[in-house]
Amino acid sequence: MIKENIALIRQRMAQAAKAAGRDPSEILLCAATKMNTAEAVREAIACGVDCCGENRVQELVEKSALNAYEGKPVHFIGHLQTNKVKQVVGHVDLIQSVDRLALLECIEKEAAKQNIVQDILFEINIGAEESKSGFTPLEAVELAAKIEEFPHVFLRGLMAIPPISKKIGDNCRFFQKIQRISVDISAKKSHNSSMEILSMGMTDDFEDAIACGSTMIRVGTAIFGARNY
Ligand SMILES: *Cc1c(COP(=O)(O)O)cnc(C)c1O
Repeated sequence: MIKENIALIRQRMAQAAKAAGRDPSEILLCAATKMNTAEAVREAIACGVDCCGENRVQELVEKSALNAYEGKPVHFIGHLQTNKVKQVVGHVDLIQSVDRLALLECIEKEAAKQNIVQDILFEINIGAEESKSGFTPLEAVELAAKIEEFPHVFLRGLMAIPPISKKIGDNCRFFQKIQRISVDISAKKSHNSSMEILSMGMTDDFEDAIACGSTMIRVGTAIFGARNY
């Protein structure tokens, strides 16, 4: 089933890219693997997802120990507590969910200690929702302008989770806003940033996200089926 699901998503991605006049190869499929087993993750990788995104540190650690992500990059995409930074920095290819200054400072410190440069994205709370974490657009732009003060991170782009959409097209304005913020940030050059990743779009809205410039969609349900909470 995972195989058929991924094939269908790839088709829909290609269609959405084409409709937007984009090359489908510009858009990566990140499997949002939370609450799915190492075995399911391995199957998704075998069926051609480009990377995996994990939400919880404990799941990341457990599945890593089982070599679940072998062959593809693994990203952290969930809310990260500062006391767990050590288990993530240097263990993932990209931390997509850098959502506050205190976390950025903590990642910088840990990466310096390990003598590495950690790739990160800034998470934007694009719908200004109280229930979600993330920078405001202004905070993100201001902090990106100072990113050289954090030489052990490399800012690769932005991630956003807009409000739950009720119908197709609802989230386009949020996705467009993210794209504009990314253009604003990339206008100010720095040694350790390049706005190449726009991580936006999930099961219910990835086609809209692709229409608005997404370069990475994070899909869980459409790959693995509904999660059993
Ligand atoms: C769960 C999750 C997704 C995927 O959500 P689906 O609607 O199941 O596709 C994407 N991004 C993040 C950060 C998530 O936690």
